[in-house]
Amino acid sequence: MAAETSGTKTIVMVRYGELFLKSDPVKYHFIGLLLRNIRQALKSAGIDSRSESPRGRIFLFTDRPDEAARIVSRVFGVVDTSICTLVAAEPDAVRDAALALAKKHLEPPCTFAVRAKRQYKTGMNSQELGEYVGSAIYDAIPGLTVDLTNPEYEIFVEMRECGGIVYDERFPGQGGLPWGSQGKALALLSSGIDSPVAAWLAMKRGCEVSFVHVDGGRWAGADVKATATENLCRLSLWCPQEPVSMTIVNAEAFYDAMQQERIPPRLRCVLCKRFMIRLAARLALNEGAAAILTGENLGQVASQTLANLAVISDVTPVPVLRPLITYDKAETVDLARKIGTFLGKQGDLACRAVPKMPATAATAEAVREAEEKLDIAGLLDQVLASVEYVNAENGKILTKE
Ligand code: ATP
Ligand code: MG
Repeated sequence: MAAETSGTKTIVMVRYGELFLKSDPVKYHFIGLLLRNIRQALKSAGIDSRSESPRGRIFLFTDRPDEAARIVSRVFGVVDTSICTLVAAEPDAVRDAALALAKKHLEPPCTFAVRAKRQYKTGMNSQELGEYVGSAIYDAIPGLTVDLTNPEYEIFVEMRECGGIVYDERFPGQGGLPWGSQGKALALLSSGIDSPVAAWLAMKRGCEVSFVHVDGGRWAGADVKATATENLCRLSLWCPQEPVSMTIVNAEAFYDAMQQERIPPRLRCVLCKRFMIRLAARLALNEGAAAILTGENLGQVASQTLANLAVISDVTPVPVLRPLITYDKAETVDLARKIGTFLGKQGDLACRAVPKMPATAATAEAVREAEEKLDIAGLLDQVLASVEYVNAENGKILTKE
């Protein structure tokens, strides 16, 4: 099953990078996960495919190679993809396919190079094959110069067991590691710019990420919950193999309690973040997640100082990972734009509980003293007693219960 024109087939070649560095058992496990993710991503897009995974590559045989390559380029662990012509594993067939491609894409006068690889023993070695194909192109198209160091046009030919392969473009993937290869993590997802980017970075590094949004009720801006849900939808586009899920908890009672107990306003942000981490830790335990992710960053806002971050992490033994800790805001925004989570529109996202002057170095003692006025355990139970679940797939909400 591959797109076919006059005897030649079009297939997709998928390359992966870092997996090569692993020991054999780990490598095969990771490649298995990558293959599963690729197959599921294609299946969920309604694309039939068959795959083969010879050393260092994955080949996809499908009737819809262009769409398949586009979808697979979003699967984490994929370094790049190429749409290839597959012919018989014979020098003449490879030469003819290379010539046809070069005639289509070359604009002389220009420099070019043929890169040849041989994984399957035929009469010619790699260098001879490269020269054979190169001279055929050189003779057939006037105005060409060979430049093996810095060519304007490169064409790749490979002799493999499944056939001769020819291509001239590489479409970049995301790199990283296959989803699920690094276990589960739970991301605190807000309506902001940072937390989706932080979650994306962890997804890219192989974490299977689920999400929790803390709804502040009347303390949150009117558009916060919908915007956090939109963030989830955007992130789901980066998980084409399966739906992503978000738990929404309503924490209005916690903010009410801070007001009723007259918690010093300057401590509210740290107390709020500690409460969120506690909520996430309880959910992480239930879901078997080994870490909590946040979009916190060093010095971005008054509450995000080293001293405060230490006090915020102090409520749980579950590790709190902050992938953006050293990012400048501009770097985060650039990445958000690149991955499509920068929403542009603002709406009412203001938190009504934020004081004018949040503490920049809340001490553990001051925080504990303030928390003693609140029934933290009772509030946690109350908030977690009624939760809402949202699932998103391919950019859209699936179910709302
Ligand atoms: P972001 O940092 O994502 O741009 P923000 O600026 O609204 O959002 P901060 O006050 O900087 O949020 O909070 C730091 C981190 O705490 C966020 O990156 C996110 O991980 C988490 N967080 C904040 N608000 C919420 C919320 N309502 N629900 C879940 N997590 C939240
Ligand atoms: Mg922020």
